[in-house]
Amino acid sequence: MKTFCGRANPTTGAMEWLEEDENYDYHQEIARSRYADMLHDKDRNVKYYQGIRAAVSRVKERGEKAIVLDIGTGTGLLSMMAASAGADFCYAVEVFKPMANAAVKIVEKNGFRDKIKVINKHSTEVTVGPDGDMQCRANILVTELFDTELIGEGALPTYEHAHKYLVQEGCEAVPHRATVYVQLVESKRMWSWNKLFPVHVEVEDGEKIIVSPSEMENCPGVPSVCDIQLNQMPSSDFTILSDVVMMFSVDFSKPVRSASTYYRVQLEPIKSGKAQIVLSWWDIDMDPSGMINCTMAPYWVKSTSAFQWRDHWMQCVYFLPNEEPVLQGEKVYLTACRDEYSVWYKLQKARGEEENKADVRVESPVCRCQAHLLWNRPRFGELNDRNRTRQYVKSLMKVLKTDSVCLCISDGSLLPVLAHYLGAKQVQSFDKNCATFLFFFKFFKANHLEDKIKIIETRPELLTSSHLEDKKISVLVGEPFFTTSLLPWHNLYFWYARTAVTSHLTSNVTVLPQSASLHMMIVEFQDLWRIRSPCGTCEGFDVQTMDDMIKNSLNFRESKEAEPHPLWEYPCKSLSDPQEVLTFDFRKTVPQHSLSAVGSVNLLRKGKSHGAVLWMEYHLAADISVSTGLMQISNEKGNCEWNPHCKQAVYFFSSVIESETLSDLPSAVTYAINFNTKTGEIAMDFKL
Ligand code: SAH
Repeated sequence: MKTFCGRANPTTGAMEWLEEDENYDYHQEIARSRYADMLHDKDRNVKYYQGIRAAVSRVKERGEKAIVLDIGTGTGLLSMMAASAGADFCYAVEVFKPMANAAVKIVEKNGFRDKIKVINKHSTEVTVGPDGDMQCRANILVTELFDTELIGEGALPTYEHAHKYLVQEGCEAVPHRATVYVQLVESKRMWSWNKLFPVHVEVEDGEKIIVSPSEMENCPGVPSVCDIQLNQMPSSDFTILSDVVMMFSVDFSKPVRSASTYYRVQLEPIKSGKAQIVLSWWDIDMDPSGMINCTMAPYWVKSTSAFQWRDHWMQCVYFLPNEEPVLQGEKVYLTACRDEYSVWYKLQKARGEEENKADVRVESPVCRCQAHLLWNRPRFGELNDRNRTRQYVKSLMKVLKTDSVCLCISDGSLLPVLAHYLGAKQVQSFDKNCATFLFFFKFFKANHLEDKIKIIETRPELLTSSHLEDKKISVLVGEPFFTTSLLPWHNLYFWYARTAVTSHLTSNVTVLPQSASLHMMIVEFQDLWRIRSPCGTCEGFDVQTMDDMIKNSLNFRESKEAEPHPLWEYPCKSLSDPQEVLTFDFRKTVPQHSLSAVGSVNLLRKGKSHGAVLWMEYHLAADISVSTGLMQISNEKGNCEWNPHCKQAVYFFSSVIESETLSDLPSAVTYAINFNTKTGEIAMDFKL
């Protein structure tokens, strides 16, 4: 059997449905999954084990048999903990078939075949009774169904159903309770991920300011959670305006309601400022006493000794619909609204309580300004990056003339507006999707540019001279940025589009950027290596079957692939100098033959070579470049600073070479990198 997978083709920019082996989907799921990260989460595992032991003994002390329901068993880990703790029987429910199969193997290998029954179903399909999946209702409910936002993976409806149909009244639950905490902050950096700040452009006759449409002001944005490694956000990048407050909590041992609702707390700001952002995280108490607590609190809230790195649970950044000035000591109300799967926030000044209550509507936020549909959070940040804009302005100024006919190829780009203000005679831009069109309609209007910039509603290969009013393009510009790009080099679609419009270019056309280069560096990760490293045993249970499964899925594709990660969130140190490995000359068309590079890169520092990081640099004009990867190596230890708005490509080495001293260093890593111009993909191989 075959399945179809949607993937953007980097040579056409279009979504294509590729036929893949039926196993492709789940190999992707497993290879990119967070199971390994969960198994490495010692703090989580130890506390679950403690909580489960305590729950089993409470039930036993009452003289009852301990019957466990483990919803979402994954590897079977929590059921095995329960069985070892003396549970009489465990029902281990897992909806994802490959995982359920793995759980069967792991349970058998660890000798729990008689104690644990794996049920490959969604919990809401599980039946209870003499002929059912479960003989009787359970009196211990164990789950780990939480995401960074706590409820995003459907924990609430799952609990609601389990209490109605699968567990006894008064059952023990591990975890017993979850609590969501919030803190109000002001942060220009984080706010820049949500609103477009005015863009100042120095032009010959003064300064132009590009503004956003008024609809953006109160726009609540999109409901998708913004989850980040908040521990990588330096304290200088935000100002704390309130204490940490408890927003709401859920008792998992009692019936749970998943229906939409809201929670409200009163806050007294500890500092005056602009309330923009609600930072949020949760903790879980594994037992009713609250003695076994597992918390996601960030570094400024908890002691560093309690620190556990994890990627499957991080922290949330919520954007208030608009920034609200608050005064120290002046009471405000913060409201958390939630539906079954997501949470969003509102802030109100203290007025009459009744008046505030009337204001609460629990409808999920809908973007009204279109910008949040067009730009994701990192893209907002990138467009608000003044330094970056300056580089583009500087280079546009170098190349634009009063008779320039300019065409822009990039998604949701402000370059056409810059080109217009910087004096191009005619400016046009491509538009691939509806959100672009709707947003730019409002945006051009807000800046009185409706008749100044034309959006061409077609694809580069279908461009005709009538689109261009029979003119030839003298300046072709791009950032390049495309929403469908997953890996850095997918933005080379710019090169393909440039090739497609070749017949419309003047013979001495200027292409900006004039070229791009692919750079590479060998690194040691502080933590990210964990997501790829085998686990072996976990709390004494043999989970090697899971390791093998992940390895098998990673090897499913013939050539291993690089994967995108925003490295500002994942510290690493460089073990080699950065090296330019390939260049792409946009002044020429895409060649027929592939581009390849073989060579070696010297290791300069001792450390563990976990993998290679790759990124693109764009050469806008003579001596003006922008990097989408390494910004700088900040000290002699090799700590790296990465572009905070872009994902870099990470290629994990299958075996890690560790060197304690410089003398036992392998002196170099050899590489072979091949850019296939037919597919737009890059294949690579490294030898240590
Ligand atoms: N319990 C394991 C794995 C947790 S990951 C551990 O702690 O290590 C959560 C798992 O729950 C995933 O494998 C997912 O497929 C499964 N899952 C989520 N909701 C479910 C539901 N309602 N019924 C059955 N399985 C579910």
